Amino acid sequence: MIEVERIQNVDLDYLTYLLNISTHDEEIFRTADEIRRRYVGEEIHLRAIIEFSNICTQNCLYCGLRAENKDIKRYRMPLESIIERAELISELGIKTVVLQSGEDPYYTTERVTQLITEIRKFNLAITLSIGERKFEEYKIWKQAGADRYLMRHETASPELYAKLHPHDSFENRKAHLLELKRLGYETGAGCMVGLPGQTPRDLALDLAFLKELDADMIGIGPFIPNADTPLANEKGGDLQTTLKMVALARIVVPTANIPATTALGSIHPLGRQLGMKYGANVIMPNLTPNPYRPNYSLYPGKICLFEKDTACVECTKNMITGLGLKVGSGYGYRIEKVRAQ
Ligand code: SF4
Repeated sequence: MIEVERIQNVDLDYLTYLLNISTHDEEIFRTADEIRRRYVGEEIHLRAIIEFSNICTQNCLYCGLRAENKDIKRYRMPLESIIERAELISELGIKTVVLQSGEDPYYTTERVTQLITEIRKFNLAITLSIGERKFEEYKIWKQAGADRYLMRHETASPELYAKLHPHDSFENRKAHLLELKRLGYETGAGCMVGLPGQTPRDLALDLAFLKELDADMIGIGPFIPNADTPLANEKGGDLQTTLKMVALARIVVPTANIPATTALGSIHPLGRQLGMKYGANVIMPNLTPNPYRPNYSLYPGKICLFEKDTACVECTKNMITGLGLKVGSGYGYRIEKVRAQ
């Protein structure tokens, strides 16, 4: 029997032990599913994502959008196109839009504020996922009406973080996430699984950090090596460990909103369905318009790049109902209270 209390108390030795062996996996998955049902219910929330710029000033070693990658066709969506797209998302009945990009300075404080102000008119919850920006900007955008901010911490091992992120540190990333929390954003963190040199202990540290932050959203995906990056020849993360991390995250932060990530679906045809069976309660249909969509190439084999325009919406809805779950009808804010059993 697994000791749920030790998991929830983020006992690092115990988490490391569970991450090192596979004999308790089925029980971890079952427990995560029960906790998901009990704390966040049967609804799976749709978050429509618009990847509006693949330009980035950073050089994260694992990422296809890194500034030094010259083998990628770069794009920036004009503000009007992003706003139009958000309107379409609202018309499709989805209640959250995720605005995602590389760290692209073209989208200044004012431009992002304009996006938020215009998109608010469509009654959408707005999630920003545009990387590390000035604290003052976070504040301005919160006041303008942004609801959530996603910024994965990627790894809570300071040494590994420093190796993967030239000119950044885990300490700095943590300071940004704490500031976002302080400002009242629903704040999303999360990590990659299977990074070169990452140990089970490092993954246990990720879970401890998610608990410490009391992350409102938790994105966990496998590391997928990209041929256009310095990590091209490394081995990628595996399905089982990634699913186990999703399940453990659900047990550690029971009320968090946890997506079945696109990366999970990219390493296995049923990756996202398994994610939803083992603790996830969010899915993010890709609503990036063409011709841009195929160029947001974070990693190879990314799914949903060539689907017809809005096809991902129906596809993800079918996935949810096929699992006997319900498509969320509200904004999908974090539930603070335990639901009646
Ligand atoms: S992970 Fe984000 S910040 Fe890093 S290179 Fe990719 S897009 Fe830029």
